[in-house]
Amino acid sequence: MEILERMATGDHEEVAFCRDRNTGLRAIVAIHDTRLGPGLGGIRIREYGDENQAMTDVLRLSQAMSYKNACAGLDFGGAKAVLLAPLPADRRAAFLAMGRIVAGFAGRYVATEDMGMTEPDIAVLNEVTPHAVGRARDAGGSGDPSPHTADGVFAGMRAALRAAGLDDGFAGVRVAVQGCGKVGLGLIRHLVAVGADVVAADTDESGVAAAREAGAGIVSPAEILFQDVEVIAPCAVGAVLDADSIPALRCRVVAGGANNQLATEADAARLRERGIVYAPDFVINAGGVINVGDELAPGGYDPARVARRVAAIETTLEGIFAEAAEAGRTTAEIAVARARRRIEAAG
Ligand code: NAD
Repeated sequence: MEILERMATGDHEEVAFCRDRNTGLRAIVAIHDTRLGPGLGGIRIREYGDENQAMTDVLRLSQAMSYKNACAGLDFGGAKAVLLAPLPADRRAAFLAMGRIVAGFAGRYVATEDMGMTEPDIAVLNEVTPHAVGRARDAGGSGDPSPHTADGVFAGMRAALRAAGLDDGFAGVRVAVQGCGKVGLGLIRHLVAVGADVVAADTDESGVAAAREAGAGIVSPAEILFQDVEVIAPCAVGAVLDADSIPALRCRVVAGGANNQLATEADAARLRERGIVYAPDFVINAGGVINVGDELAPGGYDPARVARRVAAIETTLEGIFAEAAEAGRTTAEIAVARARRRIEAAG
């Protein structure tokens, strides 16, 4: 499909293909929607098979950022950038070049960290442009977003438990956590602290060791999604819920931090048909973007405001679950419809 046609299908405002002559850096920046505010979204560095795959990813991710920011009540639109690997050998030069690209959007795009990036890369962007957030706390920024993401997932999980008719105090609640990285481990600690029965899996030995130390039982990565538990919390990779995995689930709730948990839109309906309460990923995992976005609030970063907004994920999800049950629609459809309503009201 032609690019302009794909932009129309996804309702995107702007897609820019950028190449830095000096370093050879290649980037695609997609601004999905700026009606709520500047497009806020991460820069992802990934080895794509070809430019078409990179384009598909950036269009999908920027649209998801619009929905995530809208559902989180933030005054930001959605955008995303992808850097095509391999990055130029001089990483600092690459991020200075990317900073100039971001600066060229004059605030319509606000960049932050995504896969393949680190906090020091943000500091390099900031040498060139103020339109990059997610600096370290000691550099005046909002710091690591992942504890806030974990807080939001934990809060949202309570709403999901209630929607499934289970005890939101976690008494007798078993949770299987897939991925014990920054978000998964934070979530495990919350769950263990309230007495939930937690099993976890990670493909990496250090993740397994950290989860065990935090009090989780360990199962193999191949088995984690199919545990006989109340809740599955995907906190690793995307597309884990599909036509093969969903029929084999043995849980009542799916509530986790990973992005793009559903392989396709049809998987939301598959979960619903099985009576499994699904917390849309872009709603429940918004704690991180709530945290970075706060750097741009008038008066600067305010941890108390961030905590309030992250806690509100619970009530947002409660509304989505109730509306989905009443309308007989999937929770993902309701969440997207709510985001679109808010965006359209702003525009
Ligand atoms: P991370 O890299 O710290 O942790 C991911 C963990 O998953 C790693 O320990 C990795 O070894 C493990 N893993 C990978 N594949 C696995 C598999 N098949 N089975 C089991 N474990 C596997 O990343 P993170 O920051 O914790 O992010 C986790 C997920 O949450 C990602 O999908 C990310 O996009 C999403 N997310 C993160 C944030 C954030 O603030 N960090 C915000 C929103 C969404």
